[in-house]
Amino acid sequence: MFHDAHNHLQDDWLAPHLDRIASAWSGGVMVVNGTCEADWSRVAELARRYPWIRPSYGLHPWDAGNRTADWFATLKAYLDADPRAGVGEIGIDRWMLDRARPDDARLTGLRRAPLPEQGEVFLKQLALACSENRPVTIHCLEAWGALSEILARVNLPERGFLLHAYGGPPELVAHFAKLGAYFSFNGYFLKDLAPSPKAASPASTRLKAFQQVPLERLLVETDAPAMPLPQTWRTHKLPPAPDGSPVNHPGNLEAAYAGLAMLRSLPLAELTAQVEINFLRFFGP
Ligand SMILES: [Zn+2]
Repeated sequence: MFHDAHNHLQDDWLAPHLDRIASAWSGGVMVVNGTCEADWSRVAELARRYPWIRPSYGLHPWDAGNRTADWFATLKAYLDADPRAGVGEIGIDRWMLDRARPDDARLTGLRRAPLPEQGEVFLKQLALACSENRPVTIHCLEAWGALSEILARVNLPERGFLLHAYGGPPELVAHFAKLGAYFSFNGYFLKDLAPSPKAASPASTRLKAFQQVPLERLLVETDAPAMPLPQTWRTHKLPPAPDGSPVNHPGNLEAAYAGLAMLRSLPLAELTAQVEINFLRFFGP
């Protein structure tokens, strides 16, 4: 069984293609992550409609600056309504503050919360996940030192936590694993996970991090509709977004497994069996 540890099936880009996605779905579980108060109801609706969806509710760092006064009570209500639900996608993001272009379409209309404010929102949700021992999915972009400092000093859920689309330093993999981390990777990274001739390129750093993840902590995701696979790996094509960029969808999951198995020099069946064990251990049956 192929399980998608992280996607955003509720996203507008995928809405017109839902029937096609559902009929092509392989039969594993997909974890659908809400990111803002406005999309939590859509995640809940999808989870009601499809038994293979595991909902997860969280306020993403990109959306932290636009939360309402009631955001936390609303989040709690969604979690209370579904004992299987996870917390996420939550986290911290320095890229949005330091390097995102002012006209990045994905950030249009959002107030970009400074790091301390993001941290406050993150900690509140992390504490909730911990108190209820929910599977929590963490997003981190260019804030690995801050994240590592936070995770080392707070209580964490007994079952561990998921660092999705891990892009942190290889040196921190063992540290996070010791704290209980699972690490998920998606097919987007196949473009730079291939061995690079340049020893110190960002791609070789990512490959090194990927190869250091303990096998019993590895998960696979699509992050659909974001993070499209390189052209040659895409198996289920969707029409591109209006700006011409390719749109990823969960049907690409098997290709992501295949690419990652190749990079770990493992037979696909072996990687799939191990990831299934990990998935069930972390997300529950
Ligand atoms: Zn995501």
